[in-house]
Amino acid sequence: MQVTTRRPMVAGNWKMNGDTSLIKTMQSTLAQADLSNMDWVICPPMPLLGLFDKSTKLGSQNVSQFDSGAHTGETSTSLLKEVGCQYVIIGHSERRQDNHESDQLIAEKVKKTLDAGLTPIFCFGEPESVRDDGSLFEYLSAQLDAVLEVIGISAFADLVMAYEPIWAIGTGKTASPEQAQEVHAFVRDYLAKQDANIAQQQVILYGGSVKGSNADELFSQPDVDGGLIGGASLKPDDFLSICLAANKLG
Ligand code: PEP
Repeated sequence: MQVTTRRPMVAGNWKMNGDTSLIKTMQSTLAQADLSNMDWVICPPMPLLGLFDKSTKLGSQNVSQFDSGAHTGETSTSLLKEVGCQYVIIGHSERRQDNHESDQLIAEKVKKTLDAGLTPIFCFGEPESVRDDGSLFEYLSAQLDAVLEVIGISAFADLVMAYEPIWAIGTGKTASPEQAQEVHAFVRDYLAKQDANIAQQQVILYGGSVKGSNADELFSQPDVDGGLIGGASLKPDDFLSICLAANKLG
């Protein structure tokens, strides 16, 4: 039997929200608690990245697939490292939709991020219509395959995955713990076909309307290792409750 050493994690995706005052209250609220069994990460808008205490783990919400040059509005992995970023959210459904990011581009960005020594938080998930028409697992497999083909299974040891059903993001419509567990177990089994050890150690977060009030039951599912949090990551007390729920898993 394999021993699991998955460390619980909660990442807050501030999207295009937050300011210096939220940075202060978030840091002071989380500093009060013992969160030693888990990692919490804040992914604020780019201009705020350099304004956090050094003790806060930071992620960006995007990265360029290029190293430097004439790419107006883009940010490279090396610039992210300069401002202390360790994680990069890649493949969020809002970027897939609003910025037309394809599976191929997402795979390229995952590779670029890994090559730079940063940790991708690779997001995947289905629209409601896909669940309704019964093609959920084919749809998710295609999203996973696009990245697997570019980086290979062994590189999954260096990334975090986040299952985010699109119908649950920002809608208040959370996946049930059973729905989340079903997909997380599917993903782990899917990876295990290529490498059982990597699959067993793979951190898989759930994202989609997680709040302090539902985090415990979602995170108590055996294959859910924490959460990627949007709206509730802007409310320090709620975010703290979510982190405390993850800390109990550690
Ligand atoms: C997200 O944007 O990644 C997210 C999960 O948002 P929310 O928690 O607001 O549903």
